[in-house]
Amino acid sequence: MAPRARAPRIPPPAERARAREVLDRLGGALPEARIALDFRNDVQLLVSVILSAQCTDVRVNQVTPALFRRYPDAAAFARARPEALWPLIQSCGLYRNKARNIVAAMRAVAAEHGGRVPRTREALEALPGVGRKSAGVVLIQLGEGHHFPVDTHVGRVSRRLGFARELDPSRVERRLMALLPPDRWNQGHQLLVWHGRRTCKARAPDCGRCPVEGLCPRRGVRGAAATAPTRAAAPSSPNRRARRPSRP
Ligand code: SF4
Repeated sequence: MAPRARAPRIPPPAERARAREVLDRLGGALPEARIALDFRNDVQLLVSVILSAQCTDVRVNQVTPALFRRYPDAAAFARARPEALWPLIQSCGLYRNKARNIVAAMRAVAAEHGGRVPRTREALEALPGVGRKSAGVVLIQLGEGHHFPVDTHVGRVSRRLGFARELDPSRVERRLMALLPPDRWNQGHQLLVWHGRRTCKARAPDCGRCPVEGLCPRRGVRGAAATAPTRAAAPSSPNRRARRPSRP
């Protein structure tokens, strides 16, 4: 029998309070944080999410209008040959795989789900090209429960903030879920994504302009002292510049 994954320890109250405070401040700084993909229905959502793997949402939004004009629903995609999609999605990268996955996923949606995108994690993850993260993103947008999908931004920001140490997205996800109450997960995902895009960038995090600087140990950030934040839960104010953690 496969070993069962160990549940992460329940974080101490101060850590949970710091995580909530981080989200409060990011929510104040990023009130517009929402999914950046353009879609009008569940099929367009799923196709866009598949296309967004290792591609920017901006680029996906550039190719999908023509794609959705040519293939307006799951049945239309299901009838297509994957090669027919290539010229329309080529600029998204990995286009051969993505075309194959989109057509296969839409064939399953059309044949097994009546042309509607399924609304359970199990059924979504059974579709070609849909992993745990993508399923979580789709479920959030469909209003199906609470999820904390971990993409490259969420993982990186979580590690810098000291919310998680792991590289494995599933483990980071479990840490975040243990830190925050379920009603903060969906919003937390969006906020960490946008914070990672705007401020806590991969190569050069802009800590000097970061609304959570005083709450962040900046783990792994070049030039940052490896200290814990000095205040677990300071009063929330997105415009208030917090002090840096004390340094040795
Ligand atoms: S203080 Fe720096 S490392 Fe920490 S979340 Fe902000 S930008 Fe990222």
